[in-house]
Order: sequence, then structure tokens, then C-alpha cells
Amino acid sequence: MTDIQSRLCMHEKTVSFMRTRHQHQIRRRVQNINWEERRLNGSQTRHLLCPQLRQSMASQNPQSLIPDPSDSTRSPPSPPLHVFWHDGMLAHAPPAGVFDTGSDPGFLEVLDKHPENSDRVRNMVSILRKGPIAPYISWHAGRSASVSELLSFHAPDDETPCLVGREIRNKVWGCLEHNCLILKVAHTPTVQNLSNVKRVQQAERQPNFYYIEELVQANKTGGKEFCSGTFMNPFSWDACLLAAGTTLSSMKHLLDGHGKLAYALVRPPGHHAQPSQADGYCFLNNAGLAVKLALDSGYEKVAVIDIDVHYGNGTAEGFYRSSEVLTISLHMNHGSWGPSHPQSGTIDEIGEGNGYGYNLNIPLPNGTGDEGYVYAMNELVVPAVRKFEPMLLVLVVGQDSSAFDPNGRQCLTMAGYREIGQIIHALADSHTNGRILVVQEGGYHLTYSAYCLHATLEGILNLPDPLLSDPIAYYPEDKAYSMKVIDVVKQYWRENVPFLKEF
Ligand SMILES: [Zn+2]
Repeated sequence: MTDIQSRLCMHEKTVSFMRTRHQHQIRRRVQNINWEERRLNGSQTRHLLCPQLRQSMASQNPQSLIPDPSDSTRSPPSPPLHVFWHDGMLAHAPPAGVFDTGSDPGFLEVLDKHPENSDRVRNMVSILRKGPIAPYISWHAGRSASVSELLSFHAPDDETPCLVGREIRNKVWGCLEHNCLILKVAHTPTVQNLSNVKRVQQAERQPNFYYIEELVQANKTGGKEFCSGTFMNPFSWDACLLAAGTTLSSMKHLLDGHGKLAYALVRPPGHHAQPSQADGYCFLNNAGLAVKLALDSGYEKVAVIDIDVHYGNGTAEGFYRSSEVLTISLHMNHGSWGPSHPQSGTIDEIGEGNGYGYNLNIPLPNGTGDEGYVYAMNELVVPAVRKFEPMLLVLVVGQDSSAFDPNGRQCLTMAGYREIGQIIHALADSHTNGRILVVQEGGYHLTYSAYCLHATLEGILNLPDPLLSDPIAYYPEDKAYSMKVIDVVKQYWRENVPFLKEF
């Protein structure tokens, strides 16, 4: 080959390479335009993005989260976040009143809607459909649960493997109110003491009483206040069944290998619902039912991490005697709040029998914010989950831990929720092959709950930069106090939780 021929050949190769690269760039641009169109289609959020965020959005493509992104000629794969939702859940409508009481003593001109109202979830659906996270989401229709499905968690009382049965708890609480001997027992809730209470009261239990029957009956009679702030109205039962069934569908989606990240956007919430007791706006334990489904499908170890601002007492109680489920709850230190919620959420409620050590409570001081929560995640949650080695992670998420929630006294911001999401992503990556089920619980600030949800899911998707800026300033936390408390919890775990002796 002459020198000229060689140069021509090189030139042709260069032209060919340039043409291929040009075509490749065009294809990428078309894809990016498609994604950008989908991202902004119908969106009112673009004006909310700062220039830096717009720039970072341009560098983020949902495809980067999908395995084998090198083949850019393929059509865009399905988005990685599978959201399960059914608008029938909006029909549940607890009454307005003085905050969540449902009553009006007549002193106010304008009453609040009940904090657990449908508007909060409407906004969550809206921000996921219209916000910049929209291209990362595929939507799936929810469904109703059958009553038989509910019995996996909400077993008849005489089969309930809970810490203390409902009648027993009511008696304990009654004694508490009357300041009798059990007062001391309940204030020092050691496993031995509560077990003794259970044995003493067992003979007095009503046989064959079904909690689910009580719910069905309440629905038939048009409604009932089950406990403080927890109202069932004529449309609530259908919403409850939809919340449970939708959560089960999202778990099934993961179990069947159709995705790795599923989010059950559901209401009424569920994590206070105990096997035989409604509590805290909750009737059916959606996350608990999903965990049972995973266990029944052969998953031997499931970890549940609850970041709602309230203690996930219902989920804890459902698995209190199980070593198959590690329940970890980070919550404000609110203690027990009545007969429906006798659990204190203190660090010494750590499980019973086979479950001893597998219920870990992290009561955080009021005012704990981003740094305190992240410290608790890194110092307590991550090491415990790593030691437990779960096959599946369930993140029970409530945005009532935010700085502006009317029902909480903590100070998480979007940045903190995002970082928690990233920590969960990393845990799932290393221990559960990326499998995460996210289940919606509380979160009562209409605006900020939706924004914090967006931030949490961004974190779980492990997006490199925020897609949305925080629209509200935040209240500074007292991190020194929070961290001191977290260190005390860590020391307690080392001394009292067998499988965490050396962590
Ligand atoms: Zn809550």
C-alpha cells in the first residue's frame, strides 16, 4: 500500500468512525430528548429547579441504573422503580376535628382535616408523576387483599405470637391507670416480667376472637373509632384491603424477579397495626403482611427498617418472637400512648423467645435531624443489618420525621431522607442483591412529605445529585445530644443483644 493509499484508507476509517460516532451521538440525543420529554411532560416543576440541578439532571439518565447500558441502540428499558398504587385508597376519610380527635368542642372557626387525609397521598402520587423522578418510575395497579391473606399476620388471637395479647394489654394498661402492682412491671418491661403478665392473664382471654372479624363488623355497621384518632368510616375497609393487597402485589413483584426496587404507595398506614389491635391510624399491617409473604415464599431472613417518626410497634409485635425477621425502628422517644399502644419503643424491648435480640429500637431525642439520623444509620442500623445478613430489605418510610411535620418533633430534611435512601441502597447492594421493598406509612405535611418522599426515592435509586432543591428552610438540630444517645444505644446492644456482641 502506497503512502497515499494508506492515508486515504486512514481517512476513510476516520470518516467512517466520525460518521458512526455522529450517528451514535444523534441516537443518544434522541434518547435524551425522549427522556427529557418524559421528564418534563406535564411537569410544573421545572421552574423549581436551580440551574445547577438542571445541569446535573442533564447528566443523569435513568438508563445508567439499568444493567448493560452500553448498548445505546436499544430502546430505553423499563424504569427501575416500580410504584404500586390504587386511587380507591383515597376514599378512606377520617373526620375533621381538633387535629386528629375527630371531635369539635366548638372553640375554633376552622377545623383541621384529620392529619391522615387523602390530600397527603394525592401530593405524593403527583410529585412522582410530575416531578423529575418520573422517568425512573413504572406504575402498577394495586389490588384488594382477600381476608384469608390477612390472616398470615393478623392471626386469630389464640394464635397470635405477640408480646402481649390485646385483652392482656388492656388489662395491663388498666392496671397502669389504677397504679397497681403492674405499674412497676410496665415501667420496667423486661421480657421475663411481660411473659409473667401474659401467663397470668392467659386464662382470661376470649377464645376464638378474630380481630379481622371486628374490622369487618365495624365496616358493616358504618364505622367505629377503634382507638384515639383511628377512625373507620363506610369507605375505609375497602381502602384498607387495597393498601394491604397493593403492598402484597409490590412484594410479589420483587419475589417473582420482575424488579429489584418496589414502592407500595398506600394508605391507611399500617405499622402500628398489631396482629389483633388497630392503633395510630392503622388497621392492617401492610409491611408485616408483605414480610409474611416473603417468608412463606422461602426467604429465610428479612430485615425491616422503619424510619417513620413513631415506633413501628405493630410490625415489631408481629415478629417479636421470630429470628427470621430483624425489625429496627428509629423513632422519637414518645413512649407508650394508651391501651392500643402499650409498647414503649425503648431499647430494652428487644424480642422474646427465638426473637430475642431481633427487635432493635432506636429512640431518638426530639430534635434529631439529618446528622443524627445518618449517624444512627451508620453506627447502629448498618452494622446490625450486615451481621443479620438478610435476603430482603423492607424500608418502612414515614415523612413525619421531617422538620415540619405536625405529628413529629424531629428535624429531617430532604437531604437527610436522601442520604438515608443512599445508605439503604448500599445495604441492599451488598446483602440482598439490590432488592428493596419500600412501604409508605405516615407523613402529614402536605407539601414537605411529598418532597421528602421524592428525596428518599432519589437516594434509594442512588442518583448522583439531587433532582429537586429543598423548597423550605430547615430547623437546625442539636446533633451533639442525639449522637450521645445513639452511643448509649450502641453500648446497650453490645451488652445485651447476643448476635451483636462484637459490633
Ligand atoms: Zn408516624
